[in-house]
Amino acid sequence: MTQNLTTIGFDADDTLWQNEALFQMTQDRFATLLTDYAEADHLAERLEAAEQRNLGRYGFGIKGFVLSMIETAIEVTSERVPARVIRALIEAGQQMLDHPIELLPGARDAVEGLAGRFTLVLITKGDLLDQERKLAQSGLGEMFDAVEIVSDKTPQIYASAFERHGGGAETAMMVGNSLKSDVIPALEAGAWAVHVPHDLTWSLEHAEAPHEDERFFQIDNLAELGRVIDQIG
Ligand SMILES: [Mg+2]
Repeated sequence: MTQNLTTIGFDADDTLWQNEALFQMTQDRFATLLTDYAEADHLAERLEAAEQRNLGRYGFGIKGFVLSMIETAIEVTSERVPARVIRALIEAGQQMLDHPIELLPGARDAVEGLAGRFTLVLITKGDLLDQERKLAQSGLGEMFDAVEIVSDKTPQIYASAFERHGGGAETAMMVGNSLKSDVIPALEAGAWAVHVPHDLTWSLEHAEAPHEDERFFQIDNLAELGRVIDQIG
């Protein structure tokens, strides 16, 4: 027997608003700044390795990304990277932190349409201050009943978040662009999960779609979310 859906968790970055595009733009700038020292491909690989290595120390977000760019710049230049390049990388990070929010198609309508009918929880990784700023700027903040800014997205994190904001994972749904962070661990916790793919997804967020799982759904954009909810409702 299916239990009723009461709580809906939304991922933020690249689900409700653009995010990865900003990282990729900055990464292109990084490659331009270091063009005399390393090929773009090679540089991207080294940066990804640094980000992976540093996740446990810095967590997710722009500040950690800037530190990983600086570390990679030092490595690929054999410690000869000019201070003006370091300064440009710091400024690029500051510009990311100041960048205005750009909502994704259907995001506002989807959240508006569900607010009041379900308990809505924003569940996101990243820097606390930056995520709070983005939510305030998005104009969606008022429609969420709760915000959970978490250091990682694991089945345990989802289980406890959905326990705090409803009747547990069995009566909850997670909606997001990352199979690895938003879909698979939420399914493992016992929730429904809706994948809304984004053209740009960070290389460290790739995973296989669990098509055989009957609690798994995939939609093209958030305008289709209501249909999925009616289907299980
Ligand atoms: Mg995301």
